[in-house]
Amino acid sequence: MRMVIIGGGFAGLQLARRLNNKEGVEVLLIDRFNYHQFQPLFYQVATGGLDASNISFPLRKVFHDSKNVRFRLAEVKNIDANSNTVQTDIGDFEYDTLVLATGAGTNFFGNSNLEKFAYPMKSTSEALQLRHHLIHNFEEALNAKSEEDLQQMMNIVVVGAGPTGVEVSGTLAEMKNKVLPKDYPELDFNNMQIFLLEGSNHTLLNMSEKSREQSERYLRDLGVNVQLNTIVKDYDGRFVTLTNGEKISTRTVIWAAGIKGNVPKGVNPELVVRGNRIKVDRYNKVQGYYNVYAIGDISYMETPKYPNGHPQLANVAINQGKTLAENILKQVRNKQEALTEFEYKDKGSMATVGRHKAVVDMPKPKIHFGGLLAWFVWMGLHLVLILGVKNRLQIFLNWFYKYFTFDQSLRLLFEDFYKNRKEGN
Ligand SMILES: Cc1cc2nc3c(=O)[nH]c(=O)nc-3n(C[C@H](O)[C@H](O)[C@H](O)COP(=O)(O)OP(=O)(O)OC[C@H]3O[C@@H](n4cnc5c(N)ncnc54)[C@H](O)[C@@H]3O)c2cc1C
Repeated sequence: MRMVIIGGGFAGLQLARRLNNKEGVEVLLIDRFNYHQFQPLFYQVATGGLDASNISFPLRKVFHDSKNVRFRLAEVKNIDANSNTVQTDIGDFEYDTLVLATGAGTNFFGNSNLEKFAYPMKSTSEALQLRHHLIHNFEEALNAKSEEDLQQMMNIVVVGAGPTGVEVSGTLAEMKNKVLPKDYPELDFNNMQIFLLEGSNHTLLNMSEKSREQSERYLRDLGVNVQLNTIVKDYDGRFVTLTNGEKISTRTVIWAAGIKGNVPKGVNPELVVRGNRIKVDRYNKVQGYYNVYAIGDISYMETPKYPNGHPQLANVAINQGKTLAENILKQVRNKQEALTEFEYKDKGSMATVGRHKAVVDMPKPKIHFGGLLAWFVWMGLHLVLILGVKNRLQIFLNWFYKYFTFDQSLRLLFEDFYKNRKEGN
């Protein structure tokens, strides 16, 4: 079987690794980046805590000794299901079986101003762009022309209080308290304001009541200005306008408020549902196709336990990759073998706000805990999940160093790379 997998994220990479060196299947893994990205730690790259290479792993290295998995660095442009062909910027590839594992991108809900001026965090390069902007902003603040300009540069607005928004605003608050005053002694960081805007009435809406309350308290203790039931209407690069008419003056808006599936062209639009996800059956097969599957964030599967689809989480993506690999191998071995339906076993969720401040919810037995223990559990789990021993060691050393020095070490500006990124900023 010639299989093409589009996307080397959590789902696609898991599938390719499970099919590695297995007989009867030739795999071509395509991704627009030549590395796997560990998205849960993007915010630490953006805030100078980790180097981008610490959370990225070369895809070719995963398959060094592989006899049947090959990689192509390419952007997929179109799928032609009639001729079983994937069209990319480097040429066409034919398949017997196609797996879409293209994940999700940022959803600006059609607002072109937000798209132009706000900073998303959906790829390593976007995290680096945000890091550059944050640091550059304070350099510029030293030469602010007026009090208004200065305050605009000192204000940071984070939109969306899910795990990413909570984690990034908590880290920024810690930087404000411990790091930035040392770097910029001429600036008064009592004037720096970090706003966390959330449309619903809770931070960490998808977690337990206790985690919601605790995370909000942690954020407020750190000095974050949490504003719930607050919806952003527009942003012109200088002022955020809220739906209630209020304005917040800022040069920095971090957009952590929504995602939408990266659906390649050529997929029947009738199969694309809420959140731009592709409707699949219990075997991750795209409805209406006999040889096309979708796994991870891009897929939408309804089950009795998850009637509105699964949460878009790494663990779901990894397990869909695993189950599909099992089913593919069954089909290759013996077409009569019964296939396994995908069933998600929730192992819990967690988020960190800052030093000794994290929240964990476990489903069975139903337990919530927070504080120091949760913080260590959060760090331990992320260290286990990151790909590569070297990355694990480097992250551990970075965290260890930061724990004792209260410092984020990576605040360098590599100007040329970022020049002209955004007009008006
Ligand atoms: C900032 C952030 C924090 C997160 N934190 C957590 C967390 O703490 N816990 C958790 O469980 N989940 C977290 N998530 C969600 C988690 O990262 C996703 O659920 C997971 O990455 C989904 O895996 P995937 O394989 O479906 O997609 P991805 O991991 O996004 O991989 C998709 C891949 O497809 C490639 N691709 C897309 N389109 C094309 C194309 N046209 N051509 C070629 N290649 C293409 C991309 O380059 C990418 O490598 C977080 C996400 C973000 C953005």
